[in-house]
Amino acid sequence: MVIVRARVTCDHCKKFVDRSETRYLFLHTGEKIYECFHCYKKNPTGNWSSEELNVVKRELYCERCKYRFKAKVAICPYCSKGDKIEMGNISVKDLVGEVIA
Ligand SMILES: [Zn+2]
Ligand SMILES: [Zn+2]
Repeated sequence: MVIVRARVTCDHCKKFVDRSETRYLFLHTGEKIYECFHCYKKNPTGNWSSEELNVVKRELYCERCKYRFKAKVAICPYCSKGDKIEMGNISVKDLVGEVIA
């Protein structure tokens, strides 16, 4: 039996590491990132600067309000909550509509 070991890229040092040697964090954008044990030890507080993470505006969708919006932070502007936020799938059609609007 072959054991496939999952390899992931540490979002901090960009090294390829075994997933069992990483922990993952959820950014306020809802994005999941991996941090290797080495980086975790160097930076135990888990302070990730937004500059390093290159946070961009993304399409989000609040299931509670049925409201689609674009923001860097996954907080709904209507209900001011982030628990029902989903990452929207940005289709080409949506992008075109965005440009025309
Ligand atoms: Zn690392
Ligand atoms: Zn909402």
